[in-house]
Amino acid sequence: MSKICIIGAGPGGLSAGLLLLEKGYEVHIFEKDSLVGGRSKKLTFGEYKFDSGPTFFMHPPILEEVFEKSGMKLGDHINLIPIEPLYDLYFENLKISPSSDKDTTYKLFENIQEGSGEAYLKWYDAQQYKFNKIMPILKKPFPNVLHFLRTDVLRGSPVLHPFQSVFDRLNKFFSKEEFIHSLSFQAKYLGMSSYEAPSVFTFLSFLEHNGGLYHVEGGLNNINEKMSQLFKEKGGFLHLNTEVKNFKIKNKKIVSFETNNDTFVADYFVVNADFAYAMLNLVDKEHLKKFNHRKINKMKYSVSALMVYVGLDKVFDFNHHNVFFSKDYEKYLRKLTSNSDDLNDMSFYMHNPSKIDSTLAPKNHSSIYLLMPVPNNDSGIDWEIHKEKMLKYMCNTIKTKTNIDISKNIKQVNFTTPLDWQVKYNVHKGAVFSLSHRFDQMLHKRPQNNFKDIDNMYLVGGGTHPGSGLPTIYQSALITSGYFKNLKNEKK
Ligand SMILES: Cc1cc2nc3c(=O)[nH]c(=O)nc-3n(C[C@H](O)[C@H](O)[C@H](O)COP(=O)(O)OP(=O)(O)OC[C@H]3O[C@@H](n4cnc5c(N)ncnc54)[C@H](O)[C@@H]3O)c2cc1C
Repeated sequence: MSKICIIGAGPGGLSAGLLLLEKGYEVHIFEKDSLVGGRSKKLTFGEYKFDSGPTFFMHPPILEEVFEKSGMKLGDHINLIPIEPLYDLYFENLKISPSSDKDTTYKLFENIQEGSGEAYLKWYDAQQYKFNKIMPILKKPFPNVLHFLRTDVLRGSPVLHPFQSVFDRLNKFFSKEEFIHSLSFQAKYLGMSSYEAPSVFTFLSFLEHNGGLYHVEGGLNNINEKMSQLFKEKGGFLHLNTEVKNFKIKNKKIVSFETNNDTFVADYFVVNADFAYAMLNLVDKEHLKKFNHRKINKMKYSVSALMVYVGLDKVFDFNHHNVFFSKDYEKYLRKLTSNSDDLNDMSFYMHNPSKIDSTLAPKNHSSIYLLMPVPNNDSGIDWEIHKEKMLKYMCNTIKTKTNIDISKNIKQVNFTTPLDWQVKYNVHKGAVFSLSHRFDQMLHKRPQNNFKDIDNMYLVGGGTHPGSGLPTIYQSALITSGYFKNLKNEKK
C-alpha cells in the first residue's frame, strides 16, 4: 500500500485525507496543534465556544462532492442551517439586509433607489452567466500558460475582465456606493480590497445571493471535527500535537521528515500548512526553484485580522452576520493594503451565532466574535498596544449604529492578533487569507497542487490553486487528490 503523509489538519488537509483514503492509500495526517481545523478550529474560552476563523459558509456543492468522492453523503453528517437575511450591512446613514431570495433583494434595492432593483437583476443575470463560464476553469489544475488555450478557458475569457477590479465592474451596474459595497465587501474573504481584487471575484457575492449562506450547529469548526472523526473511522492515522520540522530531500524527492517526536518516511507528501510558511521553514532553500525563498518573500500577501472573542451574559437580537462599514470605506481599504498604521474609521464584522445556536454559551448567554480586517505584519503595528482600544472602538460603533451597548454585558474577552496568526497558526506574515489573489498570483502563477519543484510533494489549502476560502480550499483537495490513481480500481 502506498503511504501518504499530510502536513496539517486544516480544512484542506482533512478533505484531502478523506479523498485519498477512499482511493486506497495509507494516509497519515500530522497536526502540530492538539485540535484539528487550523484557522477554522474550535476555540473554547471558559463556557463560551467560538469559530476561530470562517463563519460564512457558501456554495455547499463542493463540500458535497468531497463527501461523495469519499464514499459518504454530506447530509448524513453535517446539518447546514440557512441564514436569512444574508447579513445586516451598516453604512453611515443606511442599513441594508440583502436576501438570498432574488425578488426580495430586488424590492429592497428598488425601494431604496428607483432603478436599482432593475440594475440588481441585470447584475444577477450577468453573474449567473459568468459563474457558469468560470467554475469549470477553477475546478481543474492550471499548471502553465498553455492552459489559456483550453476550450473552457477560451469560453470563459470574455467574462474575466482581467484589468478591472471588483469595484470597477460593479460600478458599471450601480450608482449608489452602498449597493456596490454590499456586493463587493466579499473581496475581503480573499483578504483583498474590492478596489484591487480582480473583477472575476464578483461571483463571490453572487454565490451568496444565489445559493445562500449557512451555519452549522456548534460552528463551522464542526465540519472539521466531523471530517477528522470520519477520517479515523475509515482507517486514517491522525497524529495530533506533532509538528513537522524539516523535510529531508534527495534528488528532488522528499525522503522523510522530522517531527518533534520522530522521523517519518512515506511515498507522497501533501502540504496543507500555509504555503509560504512551509516553503520558508520546512524546505531548505537549495531544493526550491520556481518558488524559491526570494520569490516567496517578494510575493504579495493578504491582509490579516484582529479577532476579539467575547462571552456575554445576554443573547442579542443582532443578525447572525453584521458588517459595520467605515465612513470612508475606500480610504479604509486602501489603508489595509498599504500597511498604514492609521487605525481611525475602521470597518469590522460581528458574528452573533448564539441567536440561532444555543450550544455555544450557557443559557441566556452568548458568544460574539468581532473581526477587524487589518494590515498584515508587514505593517509593524504592535497590536498589544492597540487591541483593547479597537475593542472599545467596535463596541462604540455598534452602540452608535444599533443603540445596543454590548460592553455592559461582557463577561470574557480573548484576542487573536496578526502576530498570533503568524506565531501560533504558522501563517506567513499573519496574512490569514494566504497569498493575495492578484491576477499575477492566480491560475498558473499560483503554486500548483502537484508542486513542480519537488516531485513527490503536493499542496492543498488556501495558498495554492485555486485559492483561499472554504469552498475553494475543498476544491483544492479535489484537484490534489485527482493526481493520485485509485488503488482500489487497480486491485479489481
Ligand atoms: C479570521 C478568519 C476568518 C475567515 N473567514 C472565512 C469565511 O467566513 N469563509 C471562508 O470560506 N473562509 C474564511 N477564512 C479563510 C479560510 O477558509 C480559513 O483560513 C481556512 O482554515 C484555511 O484552511 P487551510 O486548510 O488552507 O489552512 P489552515 O486552516 O491554516 O490549516 C493548516 C494546518 O496546518 C497546521 N500546521 C502548520 N504548520 C505545521 C507543521 N509544521 N506541522 C504540522 N502541522 C502544521 C496548522 O496548525 C493548521 O491546522 C477565514 C480565515 C480567517 C483566519
